[in-house]
Amino acid sequence: MPQTPLSFAAGRIVKHALLAAGHYRRALGRSRFPGVAVLGYHGLRRDDAAAGTMAFENLHLRASTFEAHCRVVRDTCDPISIDDWRAALAGSARLPPRPVLITFDDGYRSVLTIGAPVLKALALPAAVFVCSDLVERRRLLWFDDVAARGGESAVEPWKARDYADWLPACAQHTQEVGLDDPRALLTPAEVRELSLQPGIEIGSHTARHPILAHATAAEQRAEIAESRAALERWTGRPVRAFAYPNGRPRVDYTETTIALLAELGFDIAFTTRPAFATSDEPAFERSRFLVVAEVTAAELAHRLAYAWDR
Ligand SMILES: [Zn+2]
Repeated sequence: MPQTPLSFAAGRIVKHALLAAGHYRRALGRSRFPGVAVLGYHGLRRDDAAAGTMAFENLHLRASTFEAHCRVVRDTCDPISIDDWRAALAGSARLPPRPVLITFDDGYRSVLTIGAPVLKALALPAAVFVCSDLVERRRLLWFDDVAARGGESAVEPWKARDYADWLPACAQHTQEVGLDDPRALLTPAEVRELSLQPGIEIGSHTARHPILAHATAAEQRAEIAESRAALERWTGRPVRAFAYPNGRPRVDYTETTIALLAELGFDIAFTTRPAFATSDEPAFERSRFLVVAEVTAAELAHRLAYAWDR
């Protein structure tokens, strides 16, 4: 049966009441996840930011919503870092019953200004996947630039183009962006600052956010290696984790991409396939649940407890 606006609203009210009554905490307390619940966030927005003023707004959670999500994760699940996961995979530790890993894609500055203080206050680890070229040149990500000029619908056709067409016509000349713009990315110094917060790992998301499947092996290698080198220079740490731009398995990247990641020294990579990341998954194709702005804290708790397939 299709969900009507009324049943949607009613469901929302019920879930909120269940969260407030401690129902999800009790239900989750009795459960064990079939793998790691990796949450995929992008940017964050101040609570007083005007609605409807930026493209892809649903990828930028309100600060208070994100904080409420973090409390759900801390109070009902077992937050882990990628290093905790690595230790479990190496056999030197065990994963807790309800492991949750928080991740952010793209490298938005709001992850530092809004997200990092919340993560620190609640002692939550996270991984942040950064596009290095835009950070270095203080530019908008190509899809934010295209959407600002032609609307969100103008973005999708570019994802079908060959890298060699897309790079000079679209990605290379995006607008400069001021630090106070909600679409601004981190600066190199801020990538370093973020990397110094205990529990935060910086990973690569390529240099320019291409659809890797539409690039040659040499172009893919350049995008990945350039980004890793820049991030290692800024943070002074090895970069071993990767998130595929757009992230659909075998659509947005290929077998070649996976081989390149292994060859370049990465040890884990994340897709956008919405599932628990189980132990039998390949290390370079870890599943993730995308989390968007309309997901309330109660809805997140509901999904963790019931809605996500296990
Ligand atoms: Zn991305």
